[in-house]
Amino acid sequence: MIIYGWDKKTRKVIGKFAHRSCTYCNTDSVWVLCLVRTWFTLFFIPIIPYAKSYQISCPNCKSYITISKEDFMKLKEEIQSGKREADIIESMKYKGKSDTQINYLKAMEAQNAHNTEAETEA
Ligand SMILES: [Zn+2]
Repeated sequence: MIIYGWDKKTRKVIGKFAHRSCTYCNTDSVWVLCLVRTWFTLFFIPIIPYAKSYQISCPNCKSYITISKEDFMKLKEEIQSGKREADIIESMKYKGKSDTQINYLKAMEAQNAHNTEAETEA
């Protein structure tokens, strides 16, 4: 008897996507970018991956949002270049602040940066 199946899934975490709150488990955490493969199995051993799905996922409850391959490739590139990590640190800094407060803080930072620049020039 040959035992086979079409529904074995493996989930590979590519890297950190962004800091966000999950609507399912109500936790704030850093979501991850995942590549999910569905395999054809023979005697419970994965043989051929026949479907791919691209997701961003909550690390806490594993709920996910499916994204397009284009978005996935773009995010993967950003993760590898370290841009997402920088964005995550940035978002943690403004955590719990309203948009107005964030804009104000950013304006202040820009102003400070400008001042510093002017000082070094003089
Ligand atoms: Zn969750």
